[in-house]
Amino acid sequence: MRMDYPPSLKALLQELERLPGIGPKSALRIAMFLLNQPRETLDRLIQALQKVREQLKLCRRCFNYAEGELCAICQDESRDSSIICVEKDPMDMLVTKNAGIFQGRYHVLHGVISPIEGIGPEDLRIGELIERVQTEPVREVILALSPTTEGEATSTYIARMLKPLGLKVTQLAMGLPVGGSLDYADQLTVMRALEGRREL
Ligand SMILES: [Zn+2]
Repeated sequence: MRMDYPPSLKALLQELERLPGIGPKSALRIAMFLLNQPRETLDRLIQALQKVREQLKLCRRCFNYAEGELCAICQDESRDSSIICVEKDPMDMLVTKNAGIFQGRYHVLHGVISPIEGIGPEDLRIGELIERVQTEPVREVILALSPTTEGEATSTYIARMLKPLGLKVTQLAMGLPVGGSLDYADQLTVMRALEGRREL
């Protein structure tokens, strides 16, 4: 029973259980593993957490992770500023980037519209995207959101906001399984989805 653990261990278990996919059993297993590590290993983990908390920010242009004002992609002058690929989160963005065929820029929403979870357009970086396409020489916006109900609703919403601005708005081809998410798709699938994108 957890109530029998010393307060410090109880506190650690409580924090571990807040992590995604971690229940009481896994939390206990992770805690035991950590407690069996040498002091230096734990110090490195603590330092790594402190470092990301202090140094990791969001790029002020695309909202990808960055350690300075701009992320590495926004600093890359060789990229095509006329095409922006809209992604749900930095992990999805990395999948598209690693597929290696897209040479434009990105915009990270940090989620999708989900009425059930109480996430509306104003909770995402959609306003910033609208602003961006009006101040940058953008001619196409590719919506690379997963074909889930929430992803589709978000794509439709953004397309409705962008179309009146005279932009070409496209969506990834349905090479991805419905209900599947981009982070599990292989690079070839992403490549085909990008190449076969259709106008909204
Ligand atoms: Zn950036």
